[in-house]
Amino acid sequence: MREIETIIIGGGVAGLGCARSLSDAGNNNFLVVTKDIVGSIPESKDTNVNLGAYYIQSSYHNFLPYVDIRRRIRLHEGIWLGEEGERAVFDLRNLPHVWVYVRFMLWLRKFHRHHEELKRRTATESLRSALEKDPFLQQLYNQPGAKFVRDHHLEYWSRHFMNQVSRALGFVDVSEITGFIFCLGMLTIVYPMYEFDYQVDRLVRPFKKKILMDEVIRIKRQGDQWQVTSVSGKSFMSRNLVVATPTDTACALLKIEHERNTVARAFSAHLRGTVKANLDGDRYVFLSQRSGDLALARQDDGTFVFYSHRRDYDLSDYFDDYEVISTRAWDPAFYLGSHILDEDRGNNCYVVGGHNITFIENALISGQFAAHKILQQASLQ
Ligand SMILES: Cc1cc2nc3c(=O)[nH]c(=O)nc-3n(C[C@H](O)[C@H](O)[C@H](O)COP(=O)(O)OP(=O)(O)OC[C@H]3O[C@@H](n4cnc5c(N)ncnc54)[C@H](O)[C@@H]3O)c2cc1C
Repeated sequence: MREIETIIIGGGVAGLGCARSLSDAGNNNFLVVTKDIVGSIPESKDTNVNLGAYYIQSSYHNFLPYVDIRRRIRLHEGIWLGEEGERAVFDLRNLPHVWVYVRFMLWLRKFHRHHEELKRRTATESLRSALEKDPFLQQLYNQPGAKFVRDHHLEYWSRHFMNQVSRALGFVDVSEITGFIFCLGMLTIVYPMYEFDYQVDRLVRPFKKKILMDEVIRIKRQGDQWQVTSVSGKSFMSRNLVVATPTDTACALLKIEHERNTVARAFSAHLRGTVKANLDGDRYVFLSQRSGDLALARQDDGTFVFYSHRRDYDLSDYFDDYEVISTRAWDPAFYLGSHILDEDRGNNCYVVGGHNITFIENALISGQFAAHKILQQASLQ
């Protein structure tokens, strides 16, 4: 049985972000055990198209060094299909509501400042503790999205646009998320967002040899060590343990009873085909709630990525003819809500990732938090 100071389970941005921070600090006695090294950010075989996480924001300062920007996403390049039919961003019917929109955009700048400070704090302290220091964000974290929309008089914008953004980015309606998640998603209307090419090699370069492709099936506490067993029969002992897998796996491996949040699920397809004439021309199509489908995005190589709530979606609703290249079920994709899964589980064990704030940047920072705790402990010895 091999003894290692730190075992990191999971090769998404959280696990790799933790490994990168340890490696950058010269703490190299670690091993990443993972089923893959892309997690929720897979690309098509030719790496031209993102098939999972799709966009980043200009404020993803921690993640930006590991991407090449593909193109800016502009929301006016969209067809917006709502409950009451199609509505364009530059529609005269929006005019009476512009003031509310402008006021909200200004308000989002305040939210952005608070969130940037939260990101800075959560690199070295738990989310719960960081939120306690910021009542403005804490209140939003616990507030239902629908109430936030009402309080800010955003009903019109939510009905025609924002709910579609929420569905396209988070796979759920505004009524199912918190004010905090709503605002994080809506930052995309104030600050630039981009399609990107994940350069995972750039992230793992300093510690590539410390990645073991395997699946962890059991974690046990043995004295003051963690014993980690993989499906291929390998066993490791470690002082520190970082579990950076999706929420369900982390809770099952560590036997954590966690109050689950709203489950966000989606079924996606990558395809080529001839889109119906009424949907042709624009880059993105935000699909109506009634359809049970979520969004359609045209790619530079002429293919499309389609997301639906329905496992049995029907592509002939949108295409005259098509050929499916690949499909994927994201079930669950992630959880959204106000129950916090504490990152520090005691006994040098950390659960990190997108459990509490489901965005790439925040997941990466939670990995940095685990690394910070491990380095802090090491400096005390
Ligand atoms: C479909 C989808 C679309 C999204 N879109 C966006 C977006 O556009 N923008 C954005 O900012 N965020 C988006 N998100 C959220 C964001 O991608 C995630 O919050 C973030 O990538 C999570 O990173 P992670 O490292 O916590 O987990 P993951 O990326 O899920 O990685 C988990 C890792 O654990 C490994 N693993 C799992 N089980 C085991 C095991 N038993 N043993 C070993 N390894 C294991 C997996 O192989 C994987 O490498 C999206 C998420 C999904 C699912």
